[in-house]
Amino acid sequence: MRLLLIGPPGSGKGTQADRIHDRLGTPHISSGDMLREAVGQGTPLGQEADQYMSRGALVPDNLVIDIIIERISCPDALEGFLLDGFTRTVTQAKALEEALTRSGSKIDHVIAFDVPDEEIVVRSAGRRIDPTTGYIYHLEFNPPPPEVASRVVQRSDDNAGTLQKRLRKYHKETSPILGYFASKGLLTTVNGVGSVDEVEERIFAALKCLM
Ligand code: AMP
Repeated sequence: MRLLLIGPPGSGKGTQADRIHDRLGTPHISSGDMLREAVGQGTPLGQEADQYMSRGALVPDNLVIDIIIERISCPDALEGFLLDGFTRTVTQAKALEEALTRSGSKIDHVIAFDVPDEEIVVRSAGRRIDPTTGYIYHLEFNPPPPEVASRVVQRSDDNAGTLQKRLRKYHKETSPILGYFASKGLLTTVNGVGSVDEVEERIFAALKCLM
């Protein structure tokens, strides 16, 4: 299954992608994780991407499109993938569709996470990442176990100022692609408010007809 997960920052895309991966084995491909890795390694792509990411802006389409198209061509993704955080613009959506058409496949479905901005602000303030496993926790709603608690870190772009910019970008540049995918009959919007288990069940209810 070729599935896209779209939603505002901190809406649960990464957490739910991990859950879907655990249940279906489909590779979880996060454009944000790939870019952060490039930034951490100091590659030319990472140095350029960092200029945008650190101020809550979107990385230019051509840079992101290239790394994602290359990644989904890897053998493990040929039968399907979960794209987390890609696509974020209509240009990215069209580039992905064109690449898939060239290889004789298509996007099977798009899940959009509906979470109000006020909830996003609360979630992002408590979000912590385990740098060893990449696992995402929340200090209040999904606290890390004691053996992990001392090593979890907050993402630098989860601070209040950068988060507001990321939310504005989401509403201006990413929301329009929901209409684009809806017009193709590919979109299900899932209520992203609730426990991780509740949201997971809503997603699997939406995917039932595709599996
Ligand atoms: P995320 O981990 O998905 O919240 O992404 C973190 C940051 O990486 C975003 O705020 C953007 O700066 C950048 N980024 C991730 N995915 C994309 C994308 N598809 N298009 C443009 N920028 C992206």
